[in-house]
Amino acid sequence: MNHLIIGTGPAGVVAAETLRRHNPDCDITIIGEEDGLPYSRMALPYLLSGRIDADGTLLRRDAEHYEKLGIQRHRGRVRQISAEAQTLQLEDGDEWLYDRLLIATGCKPADPGIPGMDLPDVKTCWTLADGLELVRRLRPELRVVMIGAGFIALTIMESLLRRGVRLTIVEAQDRLIPAMVNATGGALLQKWCETRGVSMRLQTRVLRMEGQTGAGVTLTLAGGEVLAADLVIVAAGVVPAVDFLRDSGLEIDRGIRVDRLLRTSDPNIFAAGNVAQARDLSSDQEVIQALQTTAVEHGRIAGMNMAGMDVYFRGTLAMNVLDAMGMVCSSFGLVHGVAGGDESESLSGDGLRYLRLQFDEDRLVGATVIGTVRHIGAIRGLIQSNTSLGKWKKRLMQNPEYFMEAWLDLVKHGTPVY
Ligand SMILES: Cc1cc2nc3c(=O)[nH]c(=O)nc-3n(C[C@H](O)[C@H](O)[C@H](O)COP(=O)(O)OP(=O)(O)OC[C@H]3O[C@@H](n4cnc5c(N)ncnc54)[C@H](O)[C@@H]3O)c2cc1C
Repeated sequence: MNHLIIGTGPAGVVAAETLRRHNPDCDITIIGEEDGLPYSRMALPYLLSGRIDADGTLLRRDAEHYEKLGIQRHRGRVRQISAEAQTLQLEDGDEWLYDRLLIATGCKPADPGIPGMDLPDVKTCWTLADGLELVRRLRPELRVVMIGAGFIALTIMESLLRRGVRLTIVEAQDRLIPAMVNATGGALLQKWCETRGVSMRLQTRVLRMEGQTGAGVTLTLAGGEVLAADLVIVAAGVVPAVDFLRDSGLEIDRGIRVDRLLRTSDPNIFAAGNVAQARDLSSDQEVIQALQTTAVEHGRIAGMNMAGMDVYFRGTLAMNVLDAMGMVCSSFGLVHGVAGGDESESLSGDGLRYLRLQFDEDRLVGATVIGTVRHIGAIRGLIQSNTSLGKWKKRLMQNPEYFMEAWLDLVKHGTPVY
């Protein structure tokens, strides 16, 4: 049987390896549009700071890993899929046949639609090639403006500062990482970052960017302020890479819709990773979870099902952990709660430690933790296991810091909290 996999990120690679483990004889080819061996985007912040080199970003360090497993790799961009004919077309005109296909094309950076996005000094930090280009350019005192203050922007912030650049962040919303924190958490983080030299422009938009090669970029903000930059990094969110599927006939919402086997609306085509709109454990909704952990889990399940097994995807818990220059922020599940739910919060440690819990009746459904990593496994366990908290709900409403006691007590009394 001939299996094709589009996408050489973690979802595609793990799916290929899993498929091979369960089917030693089938043909497997992974097709990717980028040069070189498969790598992890998540390693790019470490490449930027100089803590690793390009080899350190590779998903598998052994250059012969794929060959040894009998997994072929092909460089090319897929232009179109014909589900009925079970073929795909590459940009260069080649047409390939498949018996089973996996789409693992991930996401791509969202285009904020600002005039000037195509200027030579306006970049993204998305591919390994982007990372290497930024490493070549970054130097002390370089004026860098980053558009966006979401998760990815903050993962690269520390690396930029380590290179000695002068960093300004422009964010349309009123706080940093708005998907992970509320106003209190955002204020804590903002102060922390400003104290360490990051300049912020929040609740404003870049209207346009102008400039010429080598002369830097002039950014005009909504309030009229003008910022001068040597380099602009755009990190304004991500969107699933589904453009090439427009005429495929597959069901697409934000991402590719899949069933519990991670199969698309065509039984011979699976989808996995950040392009697949699959079950979120907390909300029971189909969502895009733009996380590597989710991509790997999808890849594992899709690989087994492509091998002919019937393994259900239970859903994954949305979970972000990020180190903002020594201030660790974690968020789990429904961080902004549910309609009609309760929440409790505590700010301690001279205003540098923040905990916020979200409840749906007596179950913990979401949490934000800033300034500590202690016991975050317990919080995750309480959310993931959907445990009824009983008497602990009231105590946690009074003081969320009791969550470890709650976890220990529930475990002691035999409640499965994993
Ligand atoms: C700077 C940065 C930091 C990050 N940090 C974290 C982190 O700390 N934790 C975390 O969980 N996640 C992090 N992420 C996100 C993480 O990298 C993604 O969740 C993960 O890469 C998704 O894996 P994937 O396999 O679904 O897609 P991808 O890794 O995006 O791989 C998709 C592949 O498909 C290829 N492709 C796309 N379209 C086509 C086509 N038409 N034809 C052929 N090939 C195609 C792409 O070139 C790519 O190789 C970070 C991302 C970035 C950019």
